[in-house]
Amino acid sequence: MKNKQLIDNFGRSHDYLRISLLERCNLRCTYCMPEEGIPLRDKQLFMSQEELFDIVDTFVSLGVNKIRLTGGEPLIKKNFAQILAHLATLNVNLAITTNGILLDKYWNELKDSGLDTLNISLDTLIEERFNAITRRSYFERVLNNIEEAIARGFDVKVNVVLIKGTNEDEILDFIEFTKNRNVSVRFIEFMPFDGNQWDWSKTVSFKYIIDTVSEKYGSALQKLEDGENATARNYKIKDFKGSFGIISSVTNPFCDSCNRLRLTADGKIKNCLFSSEEIDLLNAHRNGQNLEDLILKSVKSKHAERAGLKSFDADDFSSENRSMVSIGG
Ligand code: SAM
Ligand code: SF4
Repeated sequence: MKNKQLIDNFGRSHDYLRISLLERCNLRCTYCMPEEGIPLRDKQLFMSQEELFDIVDTFVSLGVNKIRLTGGEPLIKKNFAQILAHLATLNVNLAITTNGILLDKYWNELKDSGLDTLNISLDTLIEERFNAITRRSYFERVLNNIEEAIARGFDVKVNVVLIKGTNEDEILDFIEFTKNRNVSVRFIEFMPFDGNQWDWSKTVSFKYIIDTVSEKYGSALQKLEDGENATARNYKIKDFKGSFGIISSVTNPFCDSCNRLRLTADGKIKNCLFSSEEIDLLNAHRNGQNLEDLILKSVKSKHAERAGLKSFDADDFSSENRSMVSIGG
């Protein structure tokens, strides 16, 4: 229905839905999970498989043609394989963001679903550092699964959240990682969320990353073309097999071309990662309300940039937003 496409007041069309399948995770990354964890909530508060499928159907009927599964950790969801198989029957492009620990359980299901892009998070190439950042010890398993995913022909993107004083000294090691591997490393600026101790001094900016890389590689650093709604600015080093990108939501946001909506595991639609405003689709669905109207309402209330935040400074920044683990990055 043309008149019901998800176009906001700034002319942006929304065809990409990121679904957080659950709030739980098998890691405890310092920048994502509050140290005390997040309280486990009653199962009834979350979408059942059927409810998830009904809500997704509504999004697809409104023009969504790309779905990314995220979390929490999507691969620890018990019915992950069934969810994947069902979504594969819809006419959408499927993707997933995972910490990679359980990928080896699902190679066949992932291939069968037609999903070809795997975003795998790995913030360091040093094992002890991995253990400190994630508060768990799965380094080798994640690294092996990244290698295996590349060998199996998936389009692999490695997500690296850069935090000053933690891992910014590994930028060049990650660039070397792209030398002989068909992989894209994506450096992500550390973003502020509830309970994650963010402050400006920990942000590793776009400029710092580019300066560091060009100092070493000079004119071998080449700019690649970015896709239409790309969040990353993409580059490669001449003659390297892989490439890298920089996602700078903090110092250089990409809101102008944003086409994303988010659905949380408890069935709330969020029109922006940084928005604390949510609309409850799950209870509306349980009460027989029209979901299309609510989804459109959410889209129409989207701000031009970063949920209307003027800055991330304490005076402007609302701490009422969720922690990243319960939004779904
Ligand atoms: N568990 C999965 C994973 O780690 O890939 C999926 C969920 S996780 C919330 C999605 C992505 O968000 C990961 O790449 C993670 O590194 C990123 N992320 C989490 N907290 C962040 C923060 N404060 N700033 C920037 N990126 C963050
Ligand atoms: Fe879990 Fe991913 Fe958050 Fe790490 S970034 S705690 S793996 S949800």
